[in-house]
Amino acid sequence: MLDKSNGLDHSSQGQAASSTQKAASCDPGEHEELQQSESKFRMLFHNAGDAIFLWELKPGVSPVLIEANETAARRLGYLIGDMPGMPLTVISPMSLNEMSDILGKLATEEYSTFESAYRTCDGTYVPIEISAHIFKLGEKTVMLSIARDISARKAESKSLTEAYNREKKLRQDLETEIGKRVDFTRALVHELKTPLTPLIASGEALLEISQGETELRLAGNIYRGAMNLERRINDLLDFARGEMGVLKVRTQPLNISPLLLDLATEVSPQFDRKQQSLELEIDDDIPLVTADEDRLRQVLLNLLNNAAKFTQRGGQITIGATVSGKMLQLSIADTGRGMSPEEQAHIFKPYYRVEDELDQNDGMGIGLTLCKMLVTLQGGDIWFESEKGRGSTFYFTLPLAMKVERDG
Ligand code: ADP
Repeated sequence: MLDKSNGLDHSSQGQAASSTQKAASCDPGEHEELQQSESKFRMLFHNAGDAIFLWELKPGVSPVLIEANETAARRLGYLIGDMPGMPLTVISPMSLNEMSDILGKLATEEYSTFESAYRTCDGTYVPIEISAHIFKLGEKTVMLSIARDISARKAESKSLTEAYNREKKLRQDLETEIGKRVDFTRALVHELKTPLTPLIASGEALLEISQGETELRLAGNIYRGAMNLERRINDLLDFARGEMGVLKVRTQPLNISPLLLDLATEVSPQFDRKQQSLELEIDDDIPLVTADEDRLRQVLLNLLNNAAKFTQRGGQITIGATVSGKMLQLSIADTGRGMSPEEQAHIFKPYYRVEDELDQNDGMGIGLTLCKMLVTLQGGDIWFESEKGRGSTFYFTLPLAMKVERDG
């Protein structure tokens, strides 16, 4: 809208500008052309979406309004005819000192944009963004300012800031809560493990020296019970660490076959007690995987324990391992009680467990959650298939350790 070639826009510079132009023209055709041009710019001036003001600047006093457009009058709540002659202090909440600071800055810049506010006729303050510049109009120093209402933008950024602060506070509260829980769990684990260590050692010693069948059975119960308790305590601590995001795995290339054979031997007494058979169906020459051996053992033990626990006496459990693309897929299948769709929807959620005659208060419902955390941390995936009354198969994958291809 501004034509800087003559230093002034035909319209927004108001009557002063147009009368100068008119006086300069004697030719009737040229005069008509000027009138048309003026009314065109005047129309643009008054219909602009932003409030436009032309101020006369005098040293030491508040700028005085020469002219404002319709939008300015409407926004401020004044009649347009009442506005010329109005000092800037009427519509601006700025003090004279603040104003002269801004004017001083403006005088050294060609164009400047800054945020401020205006005060409407009824005393309401509206946030605005002002684009202003100062120039000479004949003898006068004038300032053209265009004020854009930024209430919506301000409200939006305020609500964004509020939402951000709310979110930040919630996150901090949550972190504090989790931190407290981890500290509590750590203290609890310590308290529980202290008496457990001698219990395990004594149970083991008793097993070695026991002679009679009853003594052996009782010593075995003590030892297994204490070991079971220790495993659950460790699970609880790992789970708390996983929730905090501080559970770590150390993966390296691993040959999984000896580990599976070793585990099968380790859990066989547990399966024997329920006359369950345990089979290994694994591919020959399974390639190396990238895994954390201890954590992998923990996952497999959890799944095998569940399989034994939720399978009836005489049932069958099968460990499988097969290569699938760039992953090794492991499976633990049982012929146990299986799960209803309702159970299936929740089993990876912490503390979820279904009590039944096969699982008498045994477990805290964090085993599978922990398995999922550990498998994910090792770069794999875990899922299952199950049918009520027919059994379940849990699958998980581990990345194969890639061989480095060498030329020649
Ligand atoms: P817990 O440590 O208490 O066993 P898990 O997280 O390991 O908890 O398992 C949660 C629930 O998932 C169990 O209570 C059981 O209802 C179900 N579940 C897990 N494995 C099996 C399975 N092999 N067969 C049937 N149900 C299972």
